[in-house]
Amino acid sequence: MPSKQADIVLAPPGRVKAAPRWQPCRGLEYAAVWRTPSQETPVADSGDIIREIRMNPIVPSESVLVATARSMRPRKAEEPAARDRRGHVETCPFCVGNEHMTPPTIAAFPGQADWQVRIVENLYPVLGDDSSATPLVFGLQQAMDGYGRHEVLIDHPKHGVAIHEMSAEHLALLLGAYRDRMEQLYAGNDRIRYVLVFKNFGAAAGASIPHTHSQIIAMPVVPENVFNEVASSRAHYQKHHQCIFCSLIDEALTFEATIYDRTSGEVRRRISVGQYVIERGERFIAVKPFASRFEWEIHILPLNHEADFLTVTEEDRQDFARVLRRTMARLDAVIGGAQYNFFLHSLPRSPDLADCAGSYHWHLEICPRTSIPTGFELGSGLFVNTISPETAAEQLRAVEL
Ligand SMILES: [Zn+2]
Ligand SMILES: [Zn+2]
Ligand SMILES: [Zn+2]
Repeated sequence: MPSKQADIVLAPPGRVKAAPRWQPCRGLEYAAVWRTPSQETPVADSGDIIREIRMNPIVPSESVLVATARSMRPRKAEEPAARDRRGHVETCPFCVGNEHMTPPTIAAFPGQADWQVRIVENLYPVLGDDSSATPLVFGLQQAMDGYGRHEVLIDHPKHGVAIHEMSAEHLALLLGAYRDRMEQLYAGNDRIRYVLVFKNFGAAAGASIPHTHSQIIAMPVVPENVFNEVASSRAHYQKHHQCIFCSLIDEALTFEATIYDRTSGEVRRRISVGQYVIERGERFIAVKPFASRFEWEIHILPLNHEADFLTVTEEDRQDFARVLRRTMARLDAVIGGAQYNFFLHSLPRSPDLADCAGSYHWHLEICPRTSIPTGFELGSGLFVNTISPETAAEQLRAVEL
């Protein structure tokens, strides 16, 4: 797997034309741009070199360095995961017929005997419901007990089937399993503040068992990433009386602009309609985030405002399944055997976030792992993206399905 940090040079010494300034790029989306005399017009869709820091419009304290200079690119093409395409593996605990090899079944869909999706206890849970409730405080050091639930969802009875190879009907069933189990976990204990559903696919994404599966973790705290999104979008709502996710969807669907340099009059960026749209269903949209942390990151959101994943209807699930399947097929066609994480972000159950139903908007984030984060990223918190989101979106859209 290539490293992202081939050679980090923001701008060659002495060649910086102007200090970076925060400048509006499109509507809610901002970037700081370093320009050098050799860079004529860094128009996003022309394939020119881009070297800019883009603010995450939803969480402005998070930003991404988009650096597409050749020296910043991975040295070779992304390494595909060694896909295990076997239908059935005798020794695999998740394969159909081997149910006795897993911890007991918590739930099975549509039923125990003919299960298509099965939920079991995790053999090595990161959180458990057997710990004491006494919080530990020592000086400035505080700890909460690791109360929670950690479960495994076996996505499919077949061993090596990828998401885009599952039928839309099966994916709708899987999404229903996510929803139903989330609801049960929230209802089962009022100490639960967040239920995170996620999937690791491929060794680089942390999957330890090759059989396709997802995980569900119910926890007594709202994780920081979710908290930051919910709190920042609430602040936006209080100021603008608009859900920022809805505004970003509107921008993705309708925005058209040419941004000129203030002094030279050169074209700095052209935004065309649908530039960030990867897939559009009747009820869901898959978009490439303007400030993508990962080269091939894609988010799927409901087109109409919905804060809580638990409110999805049967029709929603069917359309979501179609959009997810087509999106994953595009990713597979472009980067072949993508190793990825995906996770659901939905309204937490926290008293101090109870007023966020109008301002938060649930979504699925798909984050393919095509390079290893380096010290620069871990030390700075600034993600480096070596392919411009505009170019990546264009390539993903160009796939004929
Ligand atoms: Zn298996
Ligand atoms: Zn919204
Ligand atoms: Zn999110």
